[in-house]
Amino acid sequence: VAKENGPSGYHLFDKELEDTLSEKMELENGLRNALKNQELFLEYQPKVHPNTGTPLGFEALIRWRHPVKGLISPVKFIPLAEASGIITDIDLWVFREACEQTKEWQAQGLPALPISVNLSAKHFGQPMLVERIRAILNETGVDGKSISIEITESVFIRQVEEVIDVLGRIRAMGIDISIDDFGTGYSSLSQLQRLPISVVKLDRTFISGADKDALKSSIVKAVIELAHSMGLKVVAEGIETEEERSFFEELNCDELQGYYFSKPLPRERLELYIKTHFNAD
Ligand code: C2E
Ligand code: MG
Ligand code: MG
Ligand code: MG
Repeated sequence: VAKENGPSGYHLFDKELEDTLSEKMELENGLRNALKNQELFLEYQPKVHPNTGTPLGFEALIRWRHPVKGLISPVKFIPLAEASGIITDIDLWVFREACEQTKEWQAQGLPALPISVNLSAKHFGQPMLVERIRAILNETGVDGKSISIEITESVFIRQVEEVIDVLGRIRAMGIDISIDDFGTGYSSLSQLQRLPISVVKLDRTFISGADKDALKSSIVKAVIELAHSMGLKVVAEGIETEEERSFFEELNCDELQGYYFSKPLPRERLELYIKTHFNAD
């Protein structure tokens, strides 16, 4: 550690940094066991019709119930999982879990709405990704059309030809691909045009208060129009108010997602949510 911190060694005496480092190492080790010990689980957040609020699909979001620390946010542990490489096992566990959930809801006769799964850009250096996804679909007997994936603009740090190839083979299995958190990275819509994607999810930072902010509102208007002209669907994430809902309905967003409609829900709560929103008897 001393060498990594340079010859001054100052960092060794920085108590705060030391705490964070050991906490990180602790969490990283904990993550390796979390998969085995069933400490990970999924919540599902609805994506809805902008006008009627009818659910159109769900996003699977990972949760970690640590035996000592309690619930830990993915904002905290996903970056650690990415740094240590455990992310590929975690994401594929999420993918399998989402497939099994889809299968179960279909068996229960619930409406077969697609589930989207977040896939870290780290996978794009993994030659086995496509075959592992194919194997999970085969083993669970799920049609690729029932599942979609969300990736962020950070895939662009990789060779774009390689990314196009991998995404193309995933798409060929019927799996739709969304660009998540659009607007926070450095890609442009014209760059996205090269990828076999079908959905753009506008990041929450562009949604929040867009109805009251002239600059934000003109940016999102332009992005939505351009995305539509490229044949892409647009999802606005992080809708929290009725004003934001009606604003993005007005702008012809295809789907909306956010606390205004529903927070991410554990499985049992989601089943109830589906039943009430479809007036199932
Ligand atoms: P994301 O994929 O962009 O997911 C959206 C995040 O925004 C979720 O946070 C969700 O709970 C939150 N959110 C949704 N609506 C609202 C809203 O109206 N207001 C506010 N303030 N927040 C809202 P969460 O679940 O904490 O996940 C954070 C991030 O962690 C995700 O961002 C995603 O990047 C990552 N993540 C979560 N699950 C996975 C996973 O299975 N694999 C990978 N690789 N990353 C994951
Ligand atoms: Mg996402
Ligand atoms: Mg997002
Ligand atoms: Mg986001």
